[in-house]
Amino acid sequence: MTESPQKKPARKPARKRAPRTLGPEKTEKIFAALAHDRPDPKTELEYSDPFTLLVAVALSAQATDVGVNKATRKLFAIADTPEKMLALGEDGVAEHIKTIGLWRNKAKNVIALSQKILDDFGGEVPRTRDELTTLPGVGRKTANVVMNEVFGEPTIAVDTHIFRVSNRTGLAPGKTPDEVEAGLERVTPAEWKKGAHHWLILHGRYVCKARTPECWRCVIAEWCKYTPKTPDPASVSALGPKAPKKKK
Ligand code: SF4
Repeated sequence: MTESPQKKPARKPARKRAPRTLGPEKTEKIFAALAHDRPDPKTELEYSDPFTLLVAVALSAQATDVGVNKATRKLFAIADTPEKMLALGEDGVAEHIKTIGLWRNKAKNVIALSQKILDDFGGEVPRTRDELTTLPGVGRKTANVVMNEVFGEPTIAVDTHIFRVSNRTGLAPGKTPDEVEAGLERVTPAEWKKGAHHWLILHGRYVCKARTPECWRCVIAEWCKYTPKTPDPASVSALGPKAPKKKK
């Protein structure tokens, strides 16, 4: 008679651990240093009111702020309200934003969101995330930027720069923008929440650059987990030119 195989004990499902962050002390120091470095951070998009900011942010997906500003300067000169935008029409909007990526779709969305603001919100840009995200072409990121910038809410919109800086530094590591946003919400001290969005974007755009982070001039290098840190090119070149390779 063969022995029946012993039943293996059922495996416990692996417990999902939250990624390790820097801890409150270093996180506080990082935000204090970023705040000291840029005491009055602002979006680099040009706008005059909630509506023009909303349109500018909606146009900025896969485009640079400089490119968006170039297009919106002329667009907003003739259409800076939902009514004027509708009067200009989809083709008219398209004509102004042709230099920006995804312009066809964006023109369609600008017209549709202008219509909805007039139909459902009495001509005013709504203030809550739930309402903002009902507007065509407005996702969570755009809503967060608008809420932070013009309504003073402590929201953090995770774009490519914030995603990179949060992961490299260890501030709020995550595999998706939503994970990083949730992490930043959790670790950012209340006093820094309103400015966190701008500080992290600007730090990613000008210092912690995608290709080569400029660690040698970074004000938060001391607490950042990223290794190896990029050395100062001046000190590297001071070591002199590399010795030519010997011919074999
Ligand atoms: S030390 Fe380097 S990797 Fe870390 S935040 Fe600064 S620039 Fe980015």
